[in-house]
Formats: sequence, structure tokens, C-alpha cells
Amino acid sequence: MSDDLQTMPLPLPAFEPGWVWLAGSGPGDPGLLTLHALNGLRQADVVVHDALVGEAVLGLVRADATIEFAGKRGGKPSPKQADISLRLIQLAKEGRRVLRLKGGDPFVFGRGGEEALSLVAAGVPFRIIPGISSGPGGLAYAGIPVTHRDTNSAVTFVTGHSVTGEVPDNLDWAALARGSPVLVAYMALKHLPEIAERLLSAGRRPEEPVALVSKASLPDQVVLETTLGGCAADAAAVGFEPPALIVFGEVVRLRSGLDWLGALTGRVLDADPLGLRQGQKTG
Ligand code: SAH
Repeated sequence: MSDDLQTMPLPLPAFEPGWVWLAGSGPGDPGLLTLHALNGLRQADVVVHDALVGEAVLGLVRADATIEFAGKRGGKPSPKQADISLRLIQLAKEGRRVLRLKGGDPFVFGRGGEEALSLVAAGVPFRIIPGISSGPGGLAYAGIPVTHRDTNSAVTFVTGHSVTGEVPDNLDWAALARGSPVLVAYMALKHLPEIAERLLSAGRRPEEPVALVSKASLPDQVVLETTLGGCAADAAAVGFEPPALIVFGEVVRLRSGLDWLGALTGRVLDADPLGLRQGQKTG
């Protein structure tokens, strides 16, 4: 694989010793890695990854490289952000090629900025490798586009979890409910009942379509289609598991036309999922 990458006519950089490459690994399917991330995986001496980076991606690491886990894992004590940054600095100062690998995109709810700033402070040279964020990328694997001309010209990505572990209070949920036709919530499963309640009290309709997507792009991806009024109870009833994305808005209806993964196993897709062309067909 590394030989292929080296011989391809692509301007992929050499990974210099003492550098940190801060890369996103995408939502899980290794096919969603960027070439820069793969190039990093093939050259790194040490890969420091978080909990969202799965086996399939880590399987691409060079055989003699070291893999270190540094991230949050439900229920277990997690390393402090400062400790992770210090570890990256230490490894780089030892002269290693350090690939810091994060789920999705490092700058989307990934604390990549904080880690990069500590590298700046320590004088460690670095490269940022964006990844496909699980919001747009994971939802595409559920057949849900985050924007669609007939439904929304804006989308808002929100976190459902603040540093304190509560529903973020620095978000104006009423303004979001009014102003953003589609909301994509990361880290929101735990607080779904409260988030749904806030959107409903701000005037969003109980019948608004909602989808939950767990383990997006992975072989055990699960999608639950529900409504704003029913989502909290439905998610609890099926014991929906993290990591999960939650999307609120009319785009969810497009899934009956765009569930390309479902089509691989026989789902018949509807070419008019929003019912916009029915009139034309009959008239
Ligand atoms: N930087 C990451 C987000 C990290 S926050 C990105 O750009 O995607 C962690 C949250 O990401 C999870 O709580 C979940 O909401 C979401 N997430 C990441 N990978 C996911 C996946 N494969 N399926 C569903 N949600 C995922």
C-alpha cells in the first residue's frame, strides 16, 4: 500500500521526524479516509488515536508503528486534554513522526484546535489533515443529505453536550428552532429528551421528521426514523447506542429515495420522496 502511494502521481508529503500530523479519520468506513490521512498512517512511527477511530482504520498503520489510545471511553476515566497534548509534544520532541488521529474531522467538535495550539506553544511543527465529519458523511451513509434545495438552504451543526455534561446553555435553542430548518446534533443521545422538548417549546412541530444514526458508515450502522414528538421515547424503547447523530428536519424524508445502502439489500427507492412530482405524473 505504501509503495502504491509513493508511486502514484500525487504530491503527498514526506512525514518528517519530530512532526505531528493532526488528522481526521472520517466516520469509520476506512474508504472515507483522505489520501493525506492514509499517507500519514503509512509513515507514522506512533499513532495516537481517540475512541472513535476503529479497528479497520488502525489496521492500516505500518506494521512496526506503535498505537496509543488517548481518548474518552464511556464509563472509564479518560486522559485529560492537557495530558494528551503533553504526550504529543513529548513524542514529537523525541523525534518521532506522530499521527494524532481523531474521528471525523479534527476541527468539528474534536478539540483539534486546542491540541494544535499547544503544539504551537511548544514549537512543534504540525500539519492539519481534515476528515469527513460524521455529520455530513455519516448521514450520507443513511441516505440523508444535510442540505437539499427543496427543503433547506441552511443547516446547523450543534453539540448536545457541553463541557459540564449538560445540554449546552450557551446555545439559543429557540433561535435555532426558528432559524435553522435542519439541525444536526452530535453527542446528543443522552440529552435527546431535553433537546426535543426545547425544540417543541420553541414551536417546532411534533410530526417533524427526525432520524438517529448510530455507528454511521460502519458495518453495524443502525438508523431509526422517528418524529420530534416521538424521538425520545422511540430511542429509549430500542436502546439506541452511541456514537450517534441526530438530524431534525424535512431532509429526513429524502431517505426513502436515497437510502443507497438499503438498496444494496433490496430496498426499493422512491424517486419522488418529497411527493413533489406526483402532480406532474398525473397531470
Ligand atoms: N470530530 C468528530 C466528532 C467528535 S464528537 C466528527 O467530525 O465527526 C463525537 C460525536 O461524533 C459522537 O457523539 C457522535 O455524535 C458523532 N459521531 C462520530 N462518529 C460517528 C459515527 N460513526 N456514527 C454516528 N455518530 C458519530
